[in-house]
Amino acid sequence: MIATDTSIYRLGEFHEFSGGGRRFLYLVPAGAIFEMDVAVAAAVEELSRGGATHEQLMARLVERGFPYEAAEELIGELLQARAIVTHDVVREPLEVPPADFPLQSLVMNLTNQCNLSCQYCYEFGEDKVATPSGKPKFMDIETARASVDFLLSQSPGRSAVHITFFGGETLMNFPLLKQVVGYATEQAAAQGRAIDFSLTTNATLLTPAIIEFLSENRIGVTVSMDGPPDLHDKLRVFANGQGSYAIIEPRVRALIQGHKTRPITARVTLTNGVTDVVRIFRHLKNDLGFHEVGFAPVTTSPDRLYAIGDQGMDGVLEQFHVLADEYLEYALRGEMHGFSNVSDTIAELYQGVNKSHPCGAGLGLMGVGPSGDIAPCHRFVDSDAHALGNIKTGGVDRAKQADFLNRGHINNKYDCHTCWARPLCAGGCHHEAFVRYGDTGHPNLHYCDWIRDWTDTCLRIYGTVSALNPGFLQYFAERKAL
Ligand code: SF4
Ligand code: SF4
Repeated sequence: MIATDTSIYRLGEFHEFSGGGRRFLYLVPAGAIFEMDVAVAAAVEELSRGGATHEQLMARLVERGFPYEAAEELIGELLQARAIVTHDVVREPLEVPPADFPLQSLVMNLTNQCNLSCQYCYEFGEDKVATPSGKPKFMDIETARASVDFLLSQSPGRSAVHITFFGGETLMNFPLLKQVVGYATEQAAAQGRAIDFSLTTNATLLTPAIIEFLSENRIGVTVSMDGPPDLHDKLRVFANGQGSYAIIEPRVRALIQGHKTRPITARVTLTNGVTDVVRIFRHLKNDLGFHEVGFAPVTTSPDRLYAIGDQGMDGVLEQFHVLADEYLEYALRGEMHGFSNVSDTIAELYQGVNKSHPCGAGLGLMGVGPSGDIAPCHRFVDSDAHALGNIKTGGVDRAKQADFLNRGHINNKYDCHTCWARPLCAGGCHHEAFVRYGDTGHPNLHYCDWIRDWTDTCLRIYGTVSALNPGFLQYFAERKAL
């Protein structure tokens, strides 16, 4: 970036925050964090009063006591980081990823059947996008093998790939899961590549033998669970309406006791009346012993009975803050707290994520259903309207994939272009956008203030930790969230 003599310097696009007694800039076009020392603060302060030419800014900095060379160097650095910009620099759009972007993760929905009837389920509930009629209910071994081959062939250049098993209830097709682990491990090893596995389950079908298999094969486990019995049993019920807590509690304890090779995570869906985040966290983390607990508000139309209204979301945010404060105390002692909503965001900040899309769906991640239909992610599996092709009949339809990715690209979400949280949010989940607005490419504008508040909270944690216990951040070099 070269500034001419007549260029006017202005402040770039950033969000200022502080932590640990230091001030930082979150540089939006780069998705990067820049510490604001005295010199940077002086330059920012000068330009916040109005634009200045190079000579004018230099003169003001020298007048404030900065040596000439240091002021020159500072301006150069700030220009490079785009903390200051010139009027003749236009906003650079993020690049559109290439159509043959290599896959990293495949989510295999081994079955679309489930032994629970959770009312809010995105697969079976009132907002479902799946159209499973006439399709197989369980994936067969040919489709599964073809899926593994697809992942390995579509991930050139990746030394490690990942398979997540999903459902319906994943463990209703455990025999296939075992076969896939064996086949995929063999195929990846033959290519000199690493592969690892995870699964999501409602825990009702866990047995000692299954737990042993999961532990032996280092399979990461996420249990869908909504807290203590009075909260969990509100919506996570069997078809006869009976709650599932009593069935899963001993199984979850056995899982945590017996599976020692990977952390065990609980994933909580927050709904109207199930928003007591701190109590849920305490139960799952302290009483049951989960290593991590993550929360997500239910994805639904706002008029559903279980939807959380604005007031409810404010309450959720307040409780997130309580756990975030605790998280920070732990981090400063070098300990993991277990609130994964913070860890996931810290990991993205540490890795300097600057998203063109909200997640890897349709890009580095795809879902495949029992029929072999390929979807942007597990939530779109079995939906004819969102299918991107079929594993067995020609793979990905590149035109459909490009359409999905173009609509979801941040460049096409005009409402987000002035939002400082866009490097991390990028408009939010495609599936939620479809449920809310009928278009996967629509930004999720119903929760922007919430997202910005939460992102600011995580930035402040990041800043404080980087100032007072920077070694802790090393934990986040490799972490990925699904
Ligand atoms: S959806 Fe809202 S919070 Fe997210 S990037 Fe867009 S404007 Fe920002
Ligand atoms: S954020 Fe939404 S679209 Fe992306 S992978 Fe998750 S559920 Fe799918």
